[in-house]
Amino acid sequence: MRLVNCKHCGLLTLDRLEGYCPDCWHEREMLISLVKDFLVFNSQAGLSEIVEHTGVSTLSVVQFIHEGRIIISQGEARPRLAYGGR
Ligand SMILES: [Zn+2]
Repeated sequence: MRLVNCKHCGLLTLDRLEGYCPDCWHEREMLISLVKDFLVFNSQAGLSEIVEHTGVSTLSVVQFIHEGRIIISQGEARPRLAYGGR
C-alpha cells in the first residue's frame, strides 16, 4: 500500500482512508454525520442553515457536496442515505 500526505494536515499516511490520515478521517466522518443528522430533520435547509446549525464550516460542507457525500437537489440538501444502494 502506498503512502500519501494527508489531504487535510499533510501527515504522511497510508493511502486507505480517501487520502486522509486516521485522525482527520474520523473528524471528517463526524462532521459529515452531523450534517446528515441535521438534514434528516431539515431536508429543506440550504447551505447557510446547515453551516449555522451544525457549526461545520461552509468550505467543509461544500467539499462534502463536491465529493458526493451530501447531495443538493433542486436547491435542497439531502443526505446521500436517502438513496438506497448507491
Ligand atoms: Zn490528517
